[in-house]
Amino acid sequence: MTRNKPNIWKYSLSAVKGIYDAYAVSMINFLRKPVTEEYPEYKRPLPERSRGRIILTRDPDGDERCVACYLCSAVCPTSCISMESAEREEDGRRFAIWFRINFARCIYCGQCEEACPTLAIQLTPDYEFCQYEVLDFVYEKEDLLVDHGGRHPDYNFYRHAGVTEKGDKGAHPDEEEPVNLKSNMP
Ligand code: SF4
Ligand code: SF4
Repeated sequence: MTRNKPNIWKYSLSAVKGIYDAYAVSMINFLRKPVTEEYPEYKRPLPERSRGRIILTRDPDGDERCVACYLCSAVCPTSCISMESAEREEDGRRFAIWFRINFARCIYCGQCEEACPTLAIQLTPDYEFCQYEVLDFVYEKEDLLVDHGGRHPDYNFYRHAGVTEKGDKGAHPDEEEPVNLKSNMP
């Protein structure tokens, strides 16, 4: 039985080609214009939907949007949101007496924002809030509450949910007239 001799030339050529390819890639990148961005002198603009620091927003009337429904807290996979609810004496509107987010545990998944029925809680593109002390990542309501509506400046949950005014039935501001069941007209 005869054994085939290994083709030394073939293996040598592929080894040389491999070395040449590696050097070629290095040289191409060596001569290319650098792409390094000098942070923090240059801050790359982030997409509007980037998920960073969380805020609690207000409706167009300046009221707090959060009605302390606990949905964000319930859906949060890291259980980093906690609050206590109360009702306003004058109109029974719910609000959070205190509202706390532990950013040391938050994974910026955005599920709290998805769950929020009032668009109160929103993630922003702001990622610059490093701290030396881990407890400084615990943000209270006064740290989270802003004086604007964030991404949805015109939305007012109470108006869309149907506000009861002076005993009348509430209505959605964009609500259409009820369908006349006794008419065949579209
Ligand atoms: S972004 Fe995710 S982890 Fe962070 S508070 Fe919201 S639900 Fe929790
Ligand atoms: S932020 Fe939104 S989901 Fe969370 S308690 Fe307030 S209203 Fe409910």
